[in-house]
Amino acid sequence: MNAPVYMDNNATTRVAPEVVEVMLPYYSDLYGNPSSMHTFGGQVGRAVEEARGKIASLLGARPDELIFTSCGTESDSTAILSALQSFPEKRHIVTTRVEHPAVKNLCESLDKLTGHKHKITQLPVNSDGTLDLGLYEESLTDETAIVSAMWANNETGVIFPIKEMAEIAKSRGILFHTDAVQAVGKIPINLSQVPIDFLSLSGHKLHAPKGIGVLYVRKGTPFVPFIIGGHQEHGRRGGTENVAAIVGLGKACEMAANQMQEENTRVKALRDKLEDGLLASIPSSLLNGHKTLRLPNTTNISFEYVEGEAILLHLDRFGICASSGSACTSGSLEPSHVMRAMGVPFTAAHGSIRLSLSVYNTEAEVDFVLEKLPPVIAQLREMSPFWQSEHKGKVGSSQCKCSCS
Ligand SMILES: *Cc1c(COP(=O)(O)O)cnc(C)c1O
Repeated sequence: MNAPVYMDNNATTRVAPEVVEVMLPYYSDLYGNPSSMHTFGGQVGRAVEEARGKIASLLGARPDELIFTSCGTESDSTAILSALQSFPEKRHIVTTRVEHPAVKNLCESLDKLTGHKHKITQLPVNSDGTLDLGLYEESLTDETAIVSAMWANNETGVIFPIKEMAEIAKSRGILFHTDAVQAVGKIPINLSQVPIDFLSLSGHKLHAPKGIGVLYVRKGTPFVPFIIGGHQEHGRRGGTENVAAIVGLGKACEMAANQMQEENTRVKALRDKLEDGLLASIPSSLLNGHKTLRLPNTTNISFEYVEGEAILLHLDRFGICASSGSACTSGSLEPSHVMRAMGVPFTAAHGSIRLSLSVYNTEAEVDFVLEKLPPVIAQLREMSPFWQSEHKGKVGSSQCKCSCS
């Protein structure tokens, strides 16, 4: 098997070779500034506008509704801070407990950023990661400035009912932002049919480079820039454009539109084969997230009584790249906020791993993981005092044998 067997596409994706190819001229001959008056710069400016058109077409948006940013995180911050500045008297934000840190940590630190006290409602999710529309509707008040809810979850792939949520917000006169970083390119999005005010996307999650993002701002939605400087992006985001990355993102969006079908058939079938195979061959394994309201490329499975981090280290020896639902950066091995919000039991939350595929994955790779992963889990359980005491009647040590403590 050629290493790496890359199944961590929700963390970042391979830049498509076709994308690299269209970018290269902007790192050599075509180095003009797109804002320049001369023909040399003008042709670069035209390439930027051509890319904008391709991205708009994938989203069902108007090209002039797109603002290029440096990443998904900047897009998220820009949308939320803009709404709060547009309606300074409204100090309530509705979001969810499972947002990406780009939204979650921003909302949790708004008081510090704006000097105002904000009331934040972080909506709970069901045990399958789905959202209760009734609870959402009840959470909205006259004080609510903005709703920010992700289109699809990066850890589980679970999809929120964004169309319904946006319609409810609109009927109440509340701005609506969606972090669609994981959704764009994987599931159809048509902004001419969904009354969203702001949408964030990021290039590196759909086979474009890192360091390029887009914020969609609906025509007519009040907007306050985040980065103030030159007149670029019609004064909505200062700073000379990352031309090569923009051109690459345009190409990536064009390819995503053409590959959407494959993503939802071949890639989905590979994901299902992988998921069904693991669940069937490994005892005490459970799927995290709704079975069908989910991205076609993502599976998140818990293996009880083992540590996700330990699984990843073993997979890494085979060149298999995956991701775990626990973050051991703090040394505490806390299950992720998403697993906690879903109420995944403690014994399972620690052993969750995410496998996220792309159009570059093959059936041979899926078979390889299906061959290598089950023995890894069995081996780790042999060493787990908790598993031993549950399944072999032995008394386990009370000490946690975390892999990274
Ligand atoms: C990756 C990701 C982001 C952040 O995007 P960057 O371009 O890395 O800043 C935001 N939201 C979600 C859901 C993501 O998966």
